[in-house]
Amino acid sequence: MSIRKDWNTYFLDIAYMASTRSQCSRRHVGAALVQGKKLLGTAYNGAPMGVADCSEAGCLIVEELEIKLLDNGEEEMTRKQRCVRTIHAEQNLLLFTDRRDREGSVVYVTDQPCWTCANMLANSGVIEIVYHRAYPKDSDKVKELMMQLGIKFIHMENYSPPASIEIEVIN
Ligand SMILES: [Zn+2]
Ligand SMILES: [Zn+2]
Repeated sequence: MSIRKDWNTYFLDIAYMASTRSQCSRRHVGAALVQGKKLLGTAYNGAPMGVADCSEAGCLIVEELEIKLLDNGEEEMTRKQRCVRTIHAEQNLLLFTDRRDREGSVVYVTDQPCWTCANMLANSGVIEIVYHRAYPKDSDKVKELMMQLGIKFIHMENYSPPASIEIEVIN
């Protein structure tokens, strides 16, 4: 007999289902908007409609220098590659849902939002963000922002995605 899933697991599963639509080979991100247990929309990271996506045109890679603060207080520079062809899942979710519907809603997302998405979500009317995979870049800044605004920011560390979903992440 299978155990009935709790709501957070259920909606994170849906976010993961949405992520399977992503064509970016570096990271499949999915998001779901939920208002009082009702699903209002799903989204994934992808190129704008009518434009070649990563599977057709290849990822559009940029290299950035990232500063990481070490435990001893020193800073370390690392080179990071990112794909900038796609609109992030959270941004697509905001583009395809209504502001009035979002007031007081919850966003479920497979990955911890980046700094830009975190700021957009913070201004979108949502009151809670539930995510699964950690995303270290700007993580401290993002957490501080959410705390400042009183937005619940929940890391579902012990969650595991549905077994049928292929997980591929290139950091
Ligand atoms: Zn890509
Ligand atoms: Zn983002």
